[in-house]
Amino acid sequence: MVNKLKRLNPQFKNFLKTSSKSAKRFGYNIYLVGGAVRDLLLNRPVFDLDIAVEGDAILLVRQIAKQLNEKFRRHHSFGTATLYHHGHKIDFATARKEIYPYSGSLPKVKKSFLKEDLARRDFSINAMAISLNKKNYGQLIDFYQGRQDLKNRLIRILYPESFLDDSLRILRAVRFQQRFTFKIETKTYAFMKQAIGAGALKWINPHRLRDELILFLDEPNPYRYIKKFYLLERFNFINKRIKLDKEDFKFFIRAQTAIRFYNKLVKNEKKVKYWLIFLTGILLNLSNHEAVEVVAKFGFKKDERSTIISIKKGLDKIKKLDKKLKASAIYKILSGYNQEAIIFFYAYFSRKKIRSNIIFFLKKVSGQKLKIKGKDLQKIGVESSSFMGEMLKEIFYLKLDKNLNTKRQELNEARNIIKKGG
Ligand code: ATP
Repeated sequence: MVNKLKRLNPQFKNFLKTSSKSAKRFGYNIYLVGGAVRDLLLNRPVFDLDIAVEGDAILLVRQIAKQLNEKFRRHHSFGTATLYHHGHKIDFATARKEIYPYSGSLPKVKKSFLKEDLARRDFSINAMAISLNKKNYGQLIDFYQGRQDLKNRLIRILYPESFLDDSLRILRAVRFQQRFTFKIETKTYAFMKQAIGAGALKWINPHRLRDELILFLDEPNPYRYIKKFYLLERFNFINKRIKLDKEDFKFFIRAQTAIRFYNKLVKNEKKVKYWLIFLTGILLNLSNHEAVEVVAKFGFKKDERSTIISIKKGLDKIKKLDKKLKASAIYKILSGYNQEAIIFFYAYFSRKKIRSNIIFFLKKVSGQKLKIKGKDLQKIGVESSSFMGEMLKEIFYLKLDKNLNTKRQELNEARNIIKKGG
């Protein structure tokens, strides 16, 4: 296992050594835990680290941060602290035992030790640790046959009531099963079905569900995930009226292709929330009113809500793109939509003309801006500000339709408009 730690990049390796030394000074034991251990064993890339501390995690992180001259954030009620190291997120948590006062409630946290900390985790493959302590640095600690399950490609819960205690694990089980193309172990599957039957997904805090749903839909190529989950639970937990048919599944496949195509076509700094495209696809057969209820219940952000609703309301308008149109007409139809919506429309409509108009918009129209400003119009005698706004709009449409490139051409159009009497 020491070799597995060697696979980490030098920044991580140095960081772990520093952490290990600091912990020793406090007399704490610390361990790498969770997804990073799993991914190291699977030879997959590791981005973020989770470290369990048998001691006070916040105190330890304060010391490490000071030594490395890094900033950190602490969360006192959870006994955790997060540090960013060369762009990687490193979470430290006091090894703890969680007690669920009642099913589906937020766990109460008690200070405790590694074995109990691992026992509260979702699946055996996520419940392994690697010691970062001098006496056995790099040694794998595997109380729940996680390594065996990785070899056998199995998702297995650690105790029968696991899904009832935290039904988010139902979404997580499907997510990991699909990501690694593993199997959900037979008994685990039976417990999962039982928990679904008992309505366990309804007991849970909707905001936690939302965050897990976003992770689920944000996996690369989530079509398979959606299909699997639909067969299992039908997204009843979102709304009982959700219904997906063959066409919807075809849409999810087309959306995956559209996202790849979009990424090649548009070099974008803004982060696109691809998961929203799939979520809107799932909510498509609901009425606008029902969709509004869903986004409110789960507390999606304002921009996310308006993307979902604007896509649902916009489908009829987009049909107008099914003919040859001037650039300005295409602009008038598409300019109010964000990137998620445009990708959605491209995937949703298979009509050639609609698609080519969308591509034209992305390639030639969407980044365009006028070179002239209001003050340029003032200089040629335009005074009223409302007229100025109208004029700038008009010149912008002419710029798109006539392919104007220079400021001079734009000013000429302005003069023509004035000559014609506005
Ligand atoms: P990813 O590769 O998607 O980041 P991860 O395994 O790192 O997956 P996180 O959601 O970051 O997943 O959680 C870190 C660890 O915390 C998991 O590996 C698991 O051990 C534990 N964990 C997370 N969510 C739960 C949960 N709902 N119930 C029990 N354990 C959980």
